[in-house]
Amino acid sequence: MSGAQPNAGAAGEIAVFSILRESKCSECGEELYGGSMLTMYRGAPLCLACSDLGHLVYLGRGDATLTRRARKYSSLSAVVVRFSRSRGRYERQGILVEEAALERAEQECLSDEDRRTVQRARSAERRAEEDRELVERMTQAIRELYPRCPPAEARAIAEHTGRRGSARVGRTAAGRSLDAAALRLAVVAAVRHRHTNYDELLMRGRDRADARAAVAGRIEEVIDRWGG
Ligand SMILES: [Zn+2]
Repeated sequence: MSGAQPNAGAAGEIAVFSILRESKCSECGEELYGGSMLTMYRGAPLCLACSDLGHLVYLGRGDATLTRRARKYSSLSAVVVRFSRSRGRYERQGILVEEAALERAEQECLSDEDRRTVQRARSAERRAEEDRELVERMTQAIRELYPRCPPAEARAIAEHTGRRGSARVGRTAAGRSLDAAALRLAVVAAVRHRHTNYDELLMRGRDRADARAAVAGRIEEVIDRWGG
């Protein structure tokens, strides 16, 4: 059908030309303005109606999945091309497909979208569940290491160190496997911030190593009190 422009569409495809200059249907005589679509039949332009493509709807390029599905479901389809003066060749603009095929394709793409949304929500939920379990196990482990640590405090430390995305010790492999040494580090860090004036010292411009040394005794007291 595209004898005049043999390179416009691949083999087995009906090529429809989105025209730049006006033309006229060689069969019904309809004026075809720039931007309208026609096919070439034995070297002469045919409007879409005379090409028996008038019932098809246009789908612009851009969504590869939607395009593929719409073509698959359409028993008749065509590729719309337009000549690019700057590039000196025909370029694909979109396709013409049956309306029902396009609707079916759109439906499928929409339900894919729904499915992806549900899957995202489910995996977020699963991660939250894992996080809750990790905090639970970590709270227990802290209380085993420090029997007299107040439960609320153990939980707060576990939540703080176990929070997803945190770079702190709780998220490391060691923290996850509830390695005692890693938990001790987490507890010491928590005690340093919550039970000493370490943060205040840092705020006052105290050197980090000096500040740590200054609060070391206080940390030991608290840890001892907790039975560590
Ligand atoms: Zn016509």
